Amino acid sequence: MKRIENIDIKNKKVIIRVDFNVPLDKNLNIIDDNRIKQSLKTINYCLDKNCKIILLSHLGKVKTISDKKTKSLKVVAKHLSKLLNKEVIFVDEPRGEKVNNVVKNMKDKDIVLLENTRFLDLEGMLESNCDENLSKYWASLGEVFINDAFGTIHRSHASNVGIAKYVKEKCLGFLVLKELDNFMPIINNPDKPFTVIMGGAKVSDKIGIITNLLNKADNILIGGAMAYTFLKAKGKEIGKSIVDEESIDFAKEILNKTNKIILPIDHITATNMDSNNYVIKNELNKDDYGLDIGPKTIALFRTYLEKSKTIFWNGPMGYYENKTYQTGTKEICEIISKLNVISVVGGGDSAACVIDLGYIDKFTHISTGGGASLELIEGKSLPGLEVMK
Ligand code: ADP
Ligand code: MG
Repeated sequence: MKRIENIDIKNKKVIIRVDFNVPLDKNLNIIDDNRIKQSLKTINYCLDKNCKIILLSHLGKVKTISDKKTKSLKVVAKHLSKLLNKEVIFVDEPRGEKVNNVVKNMKDKDIVLLENTRFLDLEGMLESNCDENLSKYWASLGEVFINDAFGTIHRSHASNVGIAKYVKEKCLGFLVLKELDNFMPIINNPDKPFTVIMGGAKVSDKIGIITNLLNKADNILIGGAMAYTFLKAKGKEIGKSIVDEESIDFAKEILNKTNKIILPIDHITATNMDSNNYVIKNELNKDDYGLDIGPKTIALFRTYLEKSKTIFWNGPMGYYENKTYQTGTKEICEIISKLNVISVVGGGDSAACVIDLGYIDKFTHISTGGGASLELIEGKSLPGLEVMK
């Protein structure tokens, strides 16, 4: 796989697949621009090399015509232009006459952003089913293809996999390289002791990760709602806490196989998920919801984290959408931020809440890819990477 710094892009017309799939509020304001900011390194590098730059991205899922109003990249073009302090030419279609004209007349250092690639999903899922003609069309727009969209690297779409098949030259951009440079050591040979900390809600989504990391990790600390599936598997009362019934057998099997799994020893509980009247308990009653890890659990987890050289974290420690139940997640951030370790955070909600709590600079790496980071750590092969080999 070629790295961007190892190919000659000087004065060329480059197509960069970026990940501008940012969250928007009801008024179409960008809630979190981290993914746009993370793509600036590659864009600025291409500007320095005097390139003409064509940017492709999707934004959300496009299922009906009305999605065109709420999933337009126009707001992103405006924001990108502000961040770069430079004009970004926005074309309000991802393919067609307007695109051809703008691209034909580009000057050096011009930046063009095409409309949401998934608008073409309205014409028979052309983007998401990796349509050959569409792939060839996008490939024909430039001379070099740079894949810098880590968030979609686990998908086989026309704008990442398709296009890569038909361009003369291709390479990975700085954002994708940074993700791989941070994840590969964890997957292949982490500095030991290696501690994995997991939370969130559904065990079934994370079975692959637990299975793949079980042999590599020295300990797996489990908090969040995920812990209740494991506690139930051990025969503990979990009250009304969220449980993933279909994963109880898996949890039993893992607990029988290894003693690496460390579970909560106390809980922040309430008798209603949206109540702020919480109680700290060592054992739950049948009416309790376990909504966060308790102070003894935080202290227990701390002992494992402090002796680690590498930490991988996926999944919030509690129901963090309610501020009352953010303490466990925040304390874990605080503990890790004080340690001299390699610390990597993966998962959409996990990254969002670590950033939201103010720890964006306190980890070695916070992944920009939700599903992509989880598939990578599961050890799956990713189509967006395979095609670049
Ligand atoms: P990620 O996207 O990082 O992989 P998940 O999607 O697996 O993370 O989990 C995030 C969700 O888990 C959040 O919505 C959070 O509120 C929820 N969660 C974590 N712990 C609890 C709990 N004890 N009770 C209810 N929900 C929880
Ligand atoms: Mg999630």
